[in-house]
Amino acid sequence: MTETLANQYVCPMCGRTMERDIILFLKHTDTHVIERIQQANPKWETKDGICEPCVEYYRSQIAGSESNIGPAQRRRRVRMGTISLIFSVAAGIYLVSQGFSRPFRFGLFVPFFFGMFGLIQAREKTCAVLAEMGTCNMDFGTKKLQDTDIISALKKKGRKILLRSAFWAAVLTSLFLIP
Ligand SMILES: [Zn+2]
Repeated sequence: MTETLANQYVCPMCGRTMERDIILFLKHTDTHVIERIQQANPKWETKDGICEPCVEYYRSQIAGSESNIGPAQRRRRVRMGTISLIFSVAAGIYLVSQGFSRPFRFGLFVPFFFGMFGLIQAREKTCAVLAEMGTCNMDFGTKKLQDTDIISALKKKGRKILLRSAFWAAVLTSLFLIP
């Protein structure tokens, strides 16, 4: 038995050590998630608590709420997406103010696309690239998914995200083609 400090907690599902104040206790309304966790670890009870990435993982394995990225992965995509959008707007303003012709300004589509791609993936809790590979990253490394229904649902979701990102990138780019 490993000794841990009083303010530390070892997640009973993944075995990772973390600060005690970030443990999650599931409510009765989370029955589907609780069932999933108990399937994987019959001895586990709600009072034992669980870490956030583990909850996300078991939630992601339920039909209708498929996801393949954890909270830290989502924050990373929000950050990258936001930076990309700020860059696109700044570049757009520069190109317009300097009188660059429209074919040049059309290049804004690329950073706008990556900006929207990051934000939509975070919002949908789905990485389109991981989805195509049939994998997930719930903040403890990239893992292969097993359930074929979940894999195909995630692929479908990923492709929709790609199309939505392209659509919004086109809309945003067109705003800089008007002047
Ligand atoms: Zn865990």
